[in-house]
Amino acid sequence: MISSKLGNFLSDKLDSYMISAEKVAHVQMGNNLEHALLVLTKCGYSVIPVLDFEFKLHGLISSAMITDAILGLERIEYERLDQLKVEDVMQTKMPVLTNATDVEKIVKLLVDNPFICVVDEAGIFEGIITRHVILKQVQRYIHE
Ligand code: AMP
Repeated sequence: MISSKLGNFLSDKLDSYMISAEKVAHVQMGNNLEHALLVLTKCGYSVIPVLDFEFKLHGLISSAMITDAILGLERIEYERLDQLKVEDVMQTKMPVLTNATDVEKIVKLLVDNPFICVVDEAGIFEGIITRHVILKQVQRYIHE
């Protein structure tokens, strides 16, 4: 239950807070780590979703996960970048929302996660809700 004016304020425009799938940088299952590193570097985000060709969400990948995977005992083994696939190193445990209507849940998840993925009933990726977007609305609320 939403017990505050701020909660109601956020809830009212919840639909507009999601960054839709087509605007979210992502990599595909089967891509190698070299490609993933390229996408991460070019888009400038530290973590992005991993989708399959049907746009189903499978995990998240970050530059840190990639570096960690190619870290040898004495050196960084760059040659492994084209041998390993994103699914070998991605994180598969992350909060996912199938129904982005519960503002309390969204805010709670955003305390510990910079963004939350939203999927439909079939697991098809619909977009993300970021901490930035919610905080901008909180700022607006405080200002008004
Ligand atoms: P922000 O709150 O805008 O800083 O975004 C938090 C995190 O959400 C970023 O560090 C990225 O991991 C992810 N993110 C935000 N926007 C996008 C996007 N358009 N494509 C991919 N990932 C994004």
